[in-house]
Amino acid sequence: MPGPADTAAEPIDDLRIREILSRWWGFETLRPLQADAIRAALGGRDSLVVMPTGGGKSLCYQLPPLVNETTDVVVSPLVALMKDQVDALEAIGYPAAALHSGLSPDERRQIRDRLAAGELRLLFTAPERLVNSGLLDLLAQVGVKRFSIDEAHCISQWGHDFRPEYRQLALLRERFPSASIHAFTATATPRVRDDIVSQLQLREPEVLVGIFDRPNLVYRVVPRTDRMAQTLQVLGRHAGEASIVYCISRKETERLAARLAAEGILARPYHAGLDTKERHKTQEAFSRETIDVVVATVAFGMGIDRSDVRLVLHTSLPKSLEAYQQETGRAGRDGLAAECVLLYSSADVFSWESLVRKSAEESDLEPAEAEKLIAGQVGHLHSMRRYAQAARCRHAALSEYFGQAYGTEPCGACDVCLDETESLPDSTVTAQKILSCVARVGERFGVRHVCEVLRGAKTEGIQRHGHERLSTFGLLSALDQRAAENLVHQLLDQDLLSRSGGDRPVVALNPRSWEVMRGERSVVLIEPRAGTTRKAKADVDDWQGVDRDLFERLRKWRRRVADARGKPAWTILDDKSLRAIAREKPLSPAALLRCKGIGEKRLADFGAAVLDLVAGRDPA
Ligand code: ADP
Ligand code: ZN
Repeated sequence: MPGPADTAAEPIDDLRIREILSRWWGFETLRPLQADAIRAALGGRDSLVVMPTGGGKSLCYQLPPLVNETTDVVVSPLVALMKDQVDALEAIGYPAAALHSGLSPDERRQIRDRLAAGELRLLFTAPERLVNSGLLDLLAQVGVKRFSIDEAHCISQWGHDFRPEYRQLALLRERFPSASIHAFTATATPRVRDDIVSQLQLREPEVLVGIFDRPNLVYRVVPRTDRMAQTLQVLGRHAGEASIVYCISRKETERLAARLAAEGILARPYHAGLDTKERHKTQEAFSRETIDVVVATVAFGMGIDRSDVRLVLHTSLPKSLEAYQQETGRAGRDGLAAECVLLYSSADVFSWESLVRKSAEESDLEPAEAEKLIAGQVGHLHSMRRYAQAARCRHAALSEYFGQAYGTEPCGACDVCLDETESLPDSTVTAQKILSCVARVGERFGVRHVCEVLRGAKTEGIQRHGHERLSTFGLLSALDQRAAENLVHQLLDQDLLSRSGGDRPVVALNPRSWEVMRGERSVVLIEPRAGTTRKAKADVDDWQGVDRDLFERLRKWRRRVADARGKPAWTILDDKSLRAIAREKPLSPAALLRCKGIGEKRLADFGAAVLDLVAGRDPA
């Protein structure tokens, strides 16, 4: 490992880095881990960089080739991700291109020519294209010295997004023995990390692991009582802002999107069942800000890239905390406050479990292997469930899950610390009513029937079994069915009631239920405060001093420019820059250059228009 002496022997020109950063990106400083990662890249030392989504990985491979005027290669799994990056780079005048399947032979030839002429600083490509198209020969001719592997966890079977084609990247080490290889990922588990290092044959890599907490995200978990109504309510806090709503099934995304559209919200569904053109259209509409809301299945979230997403709403439980971290990671990538809401029902845990079992049983795995797979996935599921039902700081819970300690101070950015949850005043009595009803129906019925009895409903099932004669019939007649079922699920969550497996699960009492019935144990049932949320500090701070009117006018102008250029709006200027402008109200080009995100290229392209807008004139 190189010690301080080595670093001194080969000084990295910090001043030059700072100058490039400000001239091209309009940023003042590198984040601590970025500085280390860039130093490793410039020093030709292999590295593994683990940073949460939004941590700023891309700059780590974008900046070095500008410093020593090389052509570097970035491997990326998705065409959409590559295209977005190239768009963003072109917006600052950075010479980059992506070789992918969507190009015409002509376009491909052009890029190869630019590459051969040494005009490109970055070339993006997919792993299968890199190794199978004669591209490696060309790269060897050009003398490529640095490879960066984005989303490097895709190489590992232990990751959540294994892609076999990534395995072929092992051959880079042999073909380019003197080049350095840099792996980037947001997946932190040690097993995946080790796998990346060994598969890519990294040589004594510098391992840099970032902080996983995202202080600008406000986490909320809300017991799900009415998916549609709650979705509308949460979206109501983000009118006109970019939002992603996650659903489990394709059908659900379509239903929900149609309903939102009927409410006048600019929303579209997005899932694997739509054809490529349709998906592409939605993605583009989202990135050019002509729609606000994408209602998506999780499988395809990775292609949705927009830095100013202000809300990620899960209408169902994700499969694991890893998945949740990644999906919520798409919120607030610009560093501004954003909200992550999970509508939680333990009913989801049961549906996931039976799905996991079914798919394992239907696979050709040996029974022992299938059991292992099930155990692993159920374990992930239960971590997710524990997170959702714990009445403790969400930031602390997430950080600790990813192996990082978090202080004990209230975070000011989660429902628990903001004190938004409220318990039902007579929780224990209500729980006793529910439990005794379970006893009265002989522990032979499911959640729905028990709740129908409690509500005093006149269903055919109740009449057939004579359950309208039970003493618990109608005990909770003030509740509607959803609210009643929600309370039963809370009892299941807290293990104060049990549920059998199988196709028609029934609820049954356990020793803890009896303690509640005998009055030896008190119960806390949560009632979400009807729609009241408190302002998180981050949210207030980010708007401090911002002229909202001007901000909206800047956004409108940005949308027009994005549309005219056919580029994602945030690549023109992201929200952070717009807010900086709407706060500083610069009156001269020099003052504008001091605003975050304004480098020389943007000043030349948009300076006049922005200054006009600030001065209250229509931009020319
Ligand atoms: P990741 O790829 O790790 O998810 P990105 O590279 O997309 O993250 O960066 C996230 C956001 O942070 C982007 O909006 C980017 O412009 C911003 N950013 C990155 N580095 C810096 C920096 N040094 N100073 C200011 N903003 C930065
Ligand atoms: Zn908290």
